[in-house]
Amino acid sequence: MSVIKSGQLGYPRIGERREWKKTLEAFWAGKIKETDFLDQMEQIRLFHLQKQKEIGIDLIPVGDFSFYDHMLDMAIMFGMIPERFNYNGGVVPLQTYFSMARGNQTAVACEMTKWFNTNYHYIVPEYEGAKLTLTENKPLNAYREAKEKLGIEGKPVLVGPYTFIKLSKGYVRTQLPAFILQLVPLYVQILQELEKEGVEWVQLDEPFLVTSITKEEMKTIAYIYKQLHEAAPKLCIMLQTYFDSVEWYSDLMKLPVQGIGLDFVHGLVENLQNLKTVGFPYDKVLGVGLVDGRNVWRSNLHEKLELVKTISNFVPQDRLWLQPSCSLLHVPVTTKYETKLELEIKNALAFADEKLDEIISLVKGFHCGESTVVEAFANNEKALNQLAQSQARNRSNVHPFVNQIQAHHFHRNLPFRERYKKQQSLLKLPFLPTTTIGSFPQTSEVRQARQKWRKGDWGTERYDESIKEQIKKWIKIQEEIGLDVFVHGEFERTDMVEFFGEKLGGFAFTQYGWVQSYGSRCVRPPIIYGDVEFLDPMTVKESVYAQSLTNKPVKGMITGPVTILNWSFIRNDLSRQQVAYQIALALRKEVEALEAAGIKIIQVDEPALREGLPLKKAAWNDYLDWAVKAFRLTTSSVKDTTQIHTHMCYCEFHDFIDSISELDADVISIETSRSHGELVSSFTDHSYNKGIGLGVYDIHSPRIPSFEEITNMIERGLQVLEPTLFWINPDCGLKTRGIEETIASLQNMVAAATIARKQLIPSP
Ligand code: GLN
Ligand code: ZN
Repeated sequence: MSVIKSGQLGYPRIGERREWKKTLEAFWAGKIKETDFLDQMEQIRLFHLQKQKEIGIDLIPVGDFSFYDHMLDMAIMFGMIPERFNYNGGVVPLQTYFSMARGNQTAVACEMTKWFNTNYHYIVPEYEGAKLTLTENKPLNAYREAKEKLGIEGKPVLVGPYTFIKLSKGYVRTQLPAFILQLVPLYVQILQELEKEGVEWVQLDEPFLVTSITKEEMKTIAYIYKQLHEAAPKLCIMLQTYFDSVEWYSDLMKLPVQGIGLDFVHGLVENLQNLKTVGFPYDKVLGVGLVDGRNVWRSNLHEKLELVKTISNFVPQDRLWLQPSCSLLHVPVTTKYETKLELEIKNALAFADEKLDEIISLVKGFHCGESTVVEAFANNEKALNQLAQSQARNRSNVHPFVNQIQAHHFHRNLPFRERYKKQQSLLKLPFLPTTTIGSFPQTSEVRQARQKWRKGDWGTERYDESIKEQIKKWIKIQEEIGLDVFVHGEFERTDMVEFFGEKLGGFAFTQYGWVQSYGSRCVRPPIIYGDVEFLDPMTVKESVYAQSLTNKPVKGMITGPVTILNWSFIRNDLSRQQVAYQIALALRKEVEALEAAGIKIIQVDEPALREGLPLKKAAWNDYLDWAVKAFRLTTSSVKDTTQIHTHMCYCEFHDFIDSISELDADVISIETSRSHGELVSSFTDHSYNKGIGLGVYDIHSPRIPSFEEITNMIERGLQVLEPTLFWINPDCGLKTRGIEETIASLQNMVAAATIARKQLIPSP
């Protein structure tokens, strides 16, 4: 009987209890030898494969495991090792591998950036024009290992050539053909060796195909895949896309590959539409990305099964693989250790292992009828219904409010120029005011106090006292340095999203719901499971205390709605926009509470606004429209004299500077010091006419910026921005810096500001 198969794209590396992270860090710290490191990593890897085998997955990916990052693995495999790492050929030593990821005494690390629209960061391969060679065939080794040790006939996974090329850097347009010509033979070699070994399927990941690519690029892709197919004609290639629907569907269908994987979660509408109207080639397998690999909720199995039935009208079942929508790298490993979640939440969650169980249930449900999986389907329905009907999902005081939002809720009373004048006369700030971004050093003293309080060794009163001491200390330091606008220092916060999540209604926190962010760093995103509700003021106590100690204005400090949204797992029964508005309305109350308590400047941080941009340019406007509105909903109800600040820490502004202006914040502080030139030029093209603080030094490195260096930054900024609107600040929070270096850096900054003021207004 011909049957539907179960597929899988990639498995989380970090382990059920972050064993992977611990092994990695022990090795870096010199606590374990290289041989032990390799042994332990092998055990973790094999355990993950064995689990997938036991769950019953037919097409188990191999080679997706990594010691750091899969893009770095590819670069290493191709010998793309920048000269500064002094590599001399042969097998790349582990030390070189980790130096590229983390830097060493003599060489800075390779750049790291976000993997499409996820929170995962990959190492950016650098092409320096040198000849590339295959240093090892990693997928082949992974295939052999799985077969020999576990009897698994694995499906080797690689980043596909076009995506790899597009995500690499170091070449200009004209060098692209040379790069492609170097790379294709290496892919050919890998595939030929796999073919010779008897591998049946290989998965080439091409998420780049869901972005807005040109017809010209499609031709290049066709050229590359033709080469690959002709070189290894017996090997079946599954060309795997994910994160959205594919562009150029018809062209893609003509590629000489044996399978195409599409995302029927994030690209459902377009992919399904194309399938129905254009059809699907009779000689290919369709990988049906069915179970959401980006979110933590159980799928609705009935609905998914219906979708499979629909799809099977267009593609015969023996050519269908049911699989997650993307690699499961982006979700936690398993819900089985969660003991503290309320059952209505826990039962509705599915992390990686549970998602694979869903795939199996769907395969069985399709073949043998739902009666063979009655229990799985019944449990699924019950769990989803319970959550849907729960009180938390339907807070009677949230919905009506969201539904009643009106146009005037998004608008401040006066236009910027008029209110800014009023604010300046109330605040009496000097020309070129100086300030910081919010956090001051979180020393071990601060962290230990929090630990003691969390463990119960310290009562809340004692802990609050210790926070107050820190605030007091830093208000005094800011007085001594001579800053103009103060902050309280954020000592009470570990994480800028978690802090608010713990205090708002509608958020849940897991014990083990970790996801890899970059390298060994994992994050545990909050889960927004219900209606978001303001319960009590969250930041007023600390801000008011700080303000009571000084005559200088102290900024209130909150995390913005779009950042909270983008850094959480969110419910999937509402749109992102609806959830953003709920958060915004809750935060609006916090802003109002701060204002009522006498705080005159309120900063609403939005560092994650940019990363929520959709992969397709055509969808940008819609996102930016509601993201801007969510920010304005948070901030618009204040008096004319209350000054709203925002902060973002990245420099690619040129492509959405208009939206930044539409936030209608009175002052924005942004990062510029790492790429000053680019940013300044983007302001030359588009004038920005609200308050703006260009970061005048980089807080990411432990060095103290000199007076001259900062002066230089100020001067360059003043060339393109209006002096009356110009603010002076570091480029991000100072949480990770030491106390002494922070003070010294800020002293230089204030000295530079003082001189700049004198030059602009020469004394009579
Ligand atoms: N106010 C925050 C801080 O200073 C901003 C952090 C951020 O931009 N990521 O720490
Ligand atoms: Zn920042």
